[in-house]
Amino acid sequence: MKLAQIFLLSLFISLPSWANWHSDTQNIMGTEIRVELWHKDETLAQKNIKLVMQEMHRIDELMSPYKEQAEIYQLNTSAAKSAQVISVELFDLINTALQVSQLTQGAFDISYASVGYLYNYREKLKPDEKAIQQKRQAIDYRLIVLDPSKSTVKFLHQDVKIDLGGIAKGYAVDRSIEILKGQGIKQAMVSAGGDSRILGDRRLADGESRPWMVGIKDPRVDDQQAVILPLSDTALSTSGDYERFYEKDGVRYHHIINPWTGDSARQVQGTSILGPDATTTDALSTAVFVLGVGKGLALINRLPGIEGLIIDAQHKLHYSDGLLARTE
Ligand code: AMP
Ligand code: MG
Repeated sequence: MKLAQIFLLSLFISLPSWANWHSDTQNIMGTEIRVELWHKDETLAQKNIKLVMQEMHRIDELMSPYKEQAEIYQLNTSAAKSAQVISVELFDLINTALQVSQLTQGAFDISYASVGYLYNYREKLKPDEKAIQQKRQAIDYRLIVLDPSKSTVKFLHQDVKIDLGGIAKGYAVDRSIEILKGQGIKQAMVSAGGDSRILGDRRLADGESRPWMVGIKDPRVDDQQAVILPLSDTALSTSGDYERFYEKDGVRYHHIINPWTGDSARQVQGTSILGPDATTTDALSTAVFVLGVGKGLALINRLPGIEGLIIDAQHKLHYSDGLLARTE
C-alpha cells in the first residue's frame, strides 16, 4: 500500500509529558489505522488503544463488501430480489450516505459500486465500455429504498450494488473517538487511511498545549506535503487519485468514480475537507472530488462548519473561504 495520505508532524519540547502520549498502528479495513492518545497511565492507555482497534475490526466485519458474513455482502446478493432486514447501525449509515447524495446531487453515491466493482485496480483491468454503460443505469441513490418501520433496505434495480468505502472509514474514526471520550480521554488522534479526527489538542504538559501540525500530502510528489495546517478538535478527510490507481495509455484509472460517466473522476487530483465529524468529512471529500473545483468549493462554502481545499488537475491549490481567511 502507498504511504498514508496524511503525515502527522509534531513538535515536542517537553520530554516527560511526551512520555504520556501512546500510539499504535495496525492494518485493518484494508488501510492503516493509527491511534495516538494522551494518558498518564501506560496500562490504561494500552487498554484504550485496544478498544479502538477492536472497534475497527467490528466495523470491518459489518461493512466489508468482500466478507460473506458482512451485512453489506448479503445486501448486494439479495436486496434487489426482496427487502432485507439490516442492523440499526448499518441502516443509519446508509441513511446518512443517502442524505449526502441528496446534498451533493448524486456526486456521492454508494451505488457507484454497480460499476465500480467492474474495475480491477490490482490487475490493471478496465471494464469494456459496453459493460460500463449497461451497469451505469444502476448507479442512482434513489434506487436504494430504506423502510425505517421495518429496518429494511431494498434495491429497485437488479444491477444495484452498494459499497461504503467512501464513508465507512470516517464512521469508524468517529466511533473510535466516541469510545475514547467515554473512557475519559481528552486528547487523541485516530486515523484510518485518509480520514482522521483530532480530539483536543497536542497536549505537552499541564497547562501547556499546541495544535497538531497536520500535513496534507502532495498528490504528485512522494513524501512531500502540499500544505501544513495547525488543527485541534476537528475531523479531516483527504481523497486522492493516487490512493488506488493504475495507468494505461497515459490515462489514470483510480478508485473515485464519477456516477454520471462510470469513469474515474478526472477534474482534480486531491481534496481535503475539515468539519466536526469524520463521517461527514469522509463523504464530502469523495463528493467534492467528483464535483471538481467550481461546484465543490461552492458546496463547501455554503455548508456551515465545513472548510476544505482542492488540488486541481493542474496541481493548483484552491481554498474554501474560511480556510483562505485562516491562511492569510
Ligand atoms: P475516499 O478515499 O474517502 O475518497 O473514498 C474512496 C472510496 O469511495 C472508493 O474506494 C470507493 O469505495 C468509494 N467511492 C468511489 N466513488 C464514489 C462515489 N462517487 N460516491 C461514493 N463513494 C465512492
Ligand atoms: Mg472520503
